[in-house]
Amino acid sequence: MLFYSTKHQSPKVNLRDAVMLGLPPDNGLYMPEKIGHLPDNFFETADQLSFPEIAFAVAQALLQDTIPADDLRQIVEQAINFDAPLVSIGDNMACLELTHGPSLAFKDFGARFMAQMMSYFVRNSTQRLTILVATSGDTGGAVAQGFLGADNIEVIILYPSKKISELQEKQLTTLGNNITALEIEGTFDDCQTMVKQAFLDADLRQKILLSSANSINLARLVPQAFYYVYGYLQARRQGAKSVVFCVPSGNFGNLTAGLLAQKIGTPIEHFVAANNANDVFTDYHRTAIFTARSSVKTLSNAMDVGNPSNLQRMQDLYHNDIEALRQQISAYSFSDSATLDAMKHLYQHYNYMACPHTAVGYLGIKSYFEENPPQEGTLGVFLATAHPAKFLDIVEPTLETTVLVPENLAKLVARQKEAILLPPTFEALKNYLLNRS
Ligand SMILES: *Cc1c(COP(=O)(O)O)cnc(C)c1O
Repeated sequence: MLFYSTKHQSPKVNLRDAVMLGLPPDNGLYMPEKIGHLPDNFFETADQLSFPEIAFAVAQALLQDTIPADDLRQIVEQAINFDAPLVSIGDNMACLELTHGPSLAFKDFGARFMAQMMSYFVRNSTQRLTILVATSGDTGGAVAQGFLGADNIEVIILYPSKKISELQEKQLTTLGNNITALEIEGTFDDCQTMVKQAFLDADLRQKILLSSANSINLARLVPQAFYYVYGYLQARRQGAKSVVFCVPSGNFGNLTAGLLAQKIGTPIEHFVAANNANDVFTDYHRTAIFTARSSVKTLSNAMDVGNPSNLQRMQDLYHNDIEALRQQISAYSFSDSATLDAMKHLYQHYNYMACPHTAVGYLGIKSYFEENPPQEGTLGVFLATAHPAKFLDIVEPTLETTVLVPENLAKLVARQKEAILLPPTFEALKNYLLNRS
């Protein structure tokens, strides 16, 4: 099986090229040519399966024969070495906690899987691989942790100066080793544009073996489908008959992965996209016209995206039929003040501490159920995308309590930040890349 570009102006490629190129030359995004299916009896027998076993079945359905099964199994097992528990919140809701990986955010799934897969592809190569990644907050930490110490791979992370939390910044500026942080005097969209330009620059690509680690990379997307299937199975084990997933969204990689999980045969009833004030998708959903905007800063900063890349993949999955998309996805957006109220509500009523992103997810499923009252047996699952300890400056004053900071995060705080400050231009990035020692 090969992978095509959503813009259809570039040749189809194999898995290795899709993962190593990251972005096709026509500026589209790679998608699998034929999306497979889980085995016929999968859901009858899956109750006995562990999370890594479920993940392997999902990876096989999505990647098919593009990688030998034994190699794929090993990549999955090394990447998925932490749990994603489903926690009940009241009668008809639950939270799927994707916050138990090394950087305490769901992006650990994608970053770890991609790091394993890229290491696999460069294992016999002579040229050093440079991974370029733009982060709006959590990607950088997850990618840094995922690739830390990887042989023959160097990681360069671009992040918007003063627009991410102190802890997020520590996660990407204190590891050293093969990880370098570039502090960009601009927005996340500037960072993302700079990375995209780097991939389109023939001169640069001739001199450096470049790859990307954003949610645009197929190797980031595939492992995010794992936990939808696992979450669905946990919900069913807990008695649910039907499951609606609500996804706090920014660049829409996470939601796109949910659509893939559905496409390979997981009987997910519906999806809800929850946005903050960066509501370009909500607008598109309502008007059928997509207009990109500059992002605005909110409390859920990892979702501050004004031009979500993965919209291309979503439109591709629905063959640009907005009616079909509306049938399966609802969309809502929420203000920062509603987000803070939701954090308080979750804590006061359910003793649950949520980060601002997760709180937006809770608001999304709540709004959906207000408009579509759940039937008996319907469970609304919102995704917890980051641990509250990553956003202490917001969570603690809001909940008027202290949050226990997990040990691996606490020890980064004491370390010294190391970052290279750059203006938000491609020239600055290119100059840096060609002149670093
Ligand atoms: C990245 C991120 C999101 C948004 O996910 P997308 O795949 O970009 O839609 C939401 N919450 C947190 C904590 C994140 O890090």
